[in-house]
Amino acid sequence: MKIIMLGAPGAGKGTQADRIAAKHGIPHIATGDIFRSNIKEGTELGQQAKKYMDQGLLVPDEVTINMVLDRIQKDDCKDGYVLDGFPRTIPQAESLGKALQERGQKIDFALNVDVPDENIVKRMGGRRACINCGATYHTQFAPPKKDGICDKCGSELVLRDDDKPETVQKRLSVYHEQTKPLIGYYEQIGILATVDGTQEMDQVFNSIETILG
Ligand code: ADP
Ligand code: AMP
Repeated sequence: MKIIMLGAPGAGKGTQADRIAAKHGIPHIATGDIFRSNIKEGTELGQQAKKYMDQGLLVPDEVTINMVLDRIQKDDCKDGYVLDGFPRTIPQAESLGKALQERGQKIDFALNVDVPDENIVKRMGGRRACINCGATYHTQFAPPKKDGICDKCGSELVLRDDDKPETVQKRLSVYHEQTKPLIGYYEQIGILATVDGTQEMDQVFNSIETILG
C-alpha cells in the first residue's frame, strides 16, 4: 500500500504516519526527518536544506524530488510506504506520479489530515522533538513520561527552531500557497480522503483505518 499524507505543518501527519507504518509493516518516509538527519550529520544536502528550513521556506524541488525518488527505490519499499511531508508542491506530485507510472505503480491513498490554522499554532508551540531520535511529543496532548526527556532514547526534548511562532506563520502561508492545491490535485485523480484532524489522536487513527480498509 502506497500512501501520501497531506495537511498543514503540525496537523498530525507524522503522528498518524507512524501508526500506519507500524500497523501495516511499511516504512514511514518523512522528508523533514531526512533533512534534519542530514543537518545533524553535516552533509552537503543538510547544509543546503537548512538555509530554507530556518526561514520556513520549502527546500527547492530539484533537491527534494531526487532525494525521495531514490529513497522509494530501496528494498524496504517494495510492499509500499507512507510518505509524510512529500509531495508539498504540484511539481513534486507530478514527478512522483510520473516516476511511479514508469514503473507501473501508483499511489493508493492521499490522506488529508484537516486541521484549521487556529489549532495549528497551538499544536506547534507545544510540539517537542528529541534531539537524538526525532520522536515527537506535545507538552499538553502527548507529554513524555519524564518532563523534557524522550521516552524512547532518554535524550533531551527541544522546541524545533522552525516551530517558533514567527516561523510557524511563514510555514502556514507557504502551506496555503504551495501545498494546499495538492488537495484538489489528488481529488481529481480520485484518491483523496479527508479526515478530521482535530479529533484525538486515537480517533484520527480510527478514521484513517476505516478509509484504508
Ligand atoms: P506534522 O507531522 O503534520 O507536522 P505532528 O504529527 O508532528 O505533525 O504533530 C504536531 C504536534 O501536534 C505534535 O506535538 C503532536 O504530538 C501533536 N498532535 C498530533 N496529532 C494530534 C491530535 N490529534 N490532537 C492533539 N495533538 C496532536
Ligand atoms: P516537516 O518536518 O515536514 O515539517 O518539514 C520541515 C521542513 O523541511 C519544511 O518546512 C521544509 O523547509 C522542509 N521540507 C520537508 N519536506 C519538504 C518537501 N517535500 N519539499 C520542500 N521542503 C520540504
